[in-house]
Amino acid sequence: MDLLREQEQKSRANDYVHEVYELVKKRNPGEKEFLQATREIFDSLRPVFLKHPEFMHNGILERITEPDRVISFRVAWEDDTGKVQVNRGFRVQFNNSIGPYKGGIRFHPTVNSSIMKFLAFEQTFKNALTGMPIGGGKGGSDFDPKGKSEREIMRFTQSFITELSKYIGADMDVPAGDIGVGKREIGFMFGQYNRLKGGFEAGVFTGKDPNHGGSLGRKEATGYGCVYFVEEMLKGKGDSFAGKKVIVSGSGNVATYAMEKAIELGATVLACSDSSGYIYDPEGINVETVKKLKEFDNKRIQEYTKFHKHAVYYEGCNNIWSVACDIALPCATQNELEETDAALLTANGVKAVGEGANMPCTEEAVHAFQANGVLFAPGKAANAGGVAVSAMEMSQNSMRLSWTVEEVDEKLKVVMKNIYRSCFDAAEDYGYPGNFVVGANIAGFLKVADAMVAHGIH
Ligand code: NDP
Repeated sequence: MDLLREQEQKSRANDYVHEVYELVKKRNPGEKEFLQATREIFDSLRPVFLKHPEFMHNGILERITEPDRVISFRVAWEDDTGKVQVNRGFRVQFNNSIGPYKGGIRFHPTVNSSIMKFLAFEQTFKNALTGMPIGGGKGGSDFDPKGKSEREIMRFTQSFITELSKYIGADMDVPAGDIGVGKREIGFMFGQYNRLKGGFEAGVFTGKDPNHGGSLGRKEATGYGCVYFVEEMLKGKGDSFAGKKVIVSGSGNVATYAMEKAIELGATVLACSDSSGYIYDPEGINVETVKKLKEFDNKRIQEYTKFHKHAVYYEGCNNIWSVACDIALPCATQNELEETDAALLTANGVKAVGEGANMPCTEEAVHAFQANGVLFAPGKAANAGGVAVSAMEMSQNSMRLSWTVEEVDEKLKVVMKNIYRSCFDAAEDYGYPGNFVVGANIAGFLKVADAMVAHGIH
């Protein structure tokens, strides 16, 4: 009898997940990335509805997949030749059940509604995992900062924030940086916002320069946090970074500081990339050179070989996964590591993969890693260190004081350990031991879903 009841409940939960996914598909036609992100979460959540039928009764899945609002707007600006240019701006305010909307701004030509929605959806669960009171949002524009002068970037950014300023605020929605948006762009946005509002609202942006309200340790936080998470996974198997060969894709903010921390923990980073190609350095990547080229001088990674003669540059960024390694940290962009890359990495003996970027591995690649017993850390857990330190920046702004870099790093370590523990425990509790994808999805979901039930139906 009990078995029959359990089977009935199982099939009800399965039907519910299936029906809602069909609804999401119908409502968001052609939104490839958003559908990919929802599918992945839905797959993990089936066992949750068995234990918590109240979430079905409260329509949580239907509501949690529909953003609170999607703001889309024109951004007109004048280039250096006096020509008027028009881009499209977005802000997706996905869910504020546990705190103000929080998530980065991306400037990249690929930005569209699907990418914004997938990022904001993922951000909701990631932010919940940090244990901090922050909701999920994301924004950006199809503006390409590459090849633009600093003044063009400033004019574009001022126009972008003039419109967005109507919808954000320290207790409402707190943007930060992402691809193409660093502390310079945040500075331009912050300056224009304060100019429009006639005050100094420190907590409205994070990722600011520490000189005017930013947190020390923020720029390192995502990369360091990713390595801390992978370190915990390795510890769980009695292993560590010491003596390991590591590959890191990208050479931007996340990649650079993931490399720095991996090296500090005794690993050798053999390769890193940009969107044109990758460098292989058999003696180990020199992070200071990468910082000089990419963080400070805005150069291509190819130029690394000018400074390190034994290093080799290969055109085409995807081939980086052919370099044999123990640990792979994809830290560039979504869907950059496919099934064939996963097969190559596995054949070459990879032991652990940590997503520094958001959804860098395709669904097929993730399944391939898991099927072959590779430890796999999903982005929403492994790269949550950045937003966690952003939340710390908000706290420091509210208190009008600054913590030292050591204090921030200590807190970051604790947050990453807690995230690891929540993912580990949720995976065990729901019958998927060792599956950090399921663990992260369930742990993040439960926190948001509980708050949504508590707040009533809206
Ligand atoms: P950056 O703009 O600083 O760096 C992105 C890097 O990736 C650049 O080196 C870029 O090269 C490279 N790149 C882009 N596409 C590819 C590709 N297909 N293959 C290889 N390299 C590529 O961005 P971030 O480091 O801030 O962000 C990287 C990822 O991490 C994104 O997915 C972002 O959403 C995620 N993330 C970032 C956080 C943060 O705190 N910054 C927080 C959490 C997640 P090029 O120079 O040629 O453009």
